[in-house]
Amino acid sequence: MATLNNNHIDKSTPIVGVDKNKCRNCHTCITTCPVKYCNDGSGEYVKVNHSLCIGCGSCLAVCTHNARYPIDDSDSFIEDLKKNKKIIVIVAPAAAASFNNKLLQLNSWLKSIGVTAVFDVSFGAELCTKSYVELLSKKSQKSIICQPCPAIVNYIEIYPNRNKKQKIPEKKHVKLRAEHVRIKHA
Ligand code: SF4
Ligand code: SF4
Repeated sequence: MATLNNNHIDKSTPIVGVDKNKCRNCHTCITTCPVKYCNDGSGEYVKVNHSLCIGCGSCLAVCTHNARYPIDDSDSFIEDLKKNKKIIVIVAPAAAASFNNKLLQLNSWLKSIGVTAVFDVSFGAELCTKSYVELLSKKSQKSIICQPCPAIVNYIEIYPNRNKKQKIPEKKHVKLRAEHVRIKHA
């Protein structure tokens, strides 16, 4: 889960971890990683710089030593709920497929366990579409990337110098939605 502090979504939220006891420092993961820089293979095991990792997950599939693992922060979500922290959930559209006709019950359940409010991320898509239209109407650039994939958007945002020719509207759907929610609930 990405966390939102007072100013922005925290890009350093860990998505992929390395078990130092299993890592053989073979660097297969680094070879596969599309950005490389987020991996430090100079020590006895590979370390990940979470601020530079785009969260594509490619390294998980190639590590034959099971040293790479996805980081699930569901436990800290539950712990924060127990501490009565104010938590707002932004639900991805995929939930409609996962929960079928029980989506409304998901919202009710989240609120029953202490979540302050539940929002749908799709409103962020509408904000994003608006920014595309504004950008296209300016005719200031020949092409733009219209892509909700977090890994691709992270790649363009974290490595702007590699993507000078194809800019995207600066916000991704969930980020726009998160900022909208933060303004409403600050
Ligand atoms: S592929 Fe796995 S074992 Fe090899 S360096 Fe990467 S994390 Fe370590
Ligand atoms: S998740 Fe993607 S960007 Fe991050 S370390 Fe793995 S391969 Fe590299």
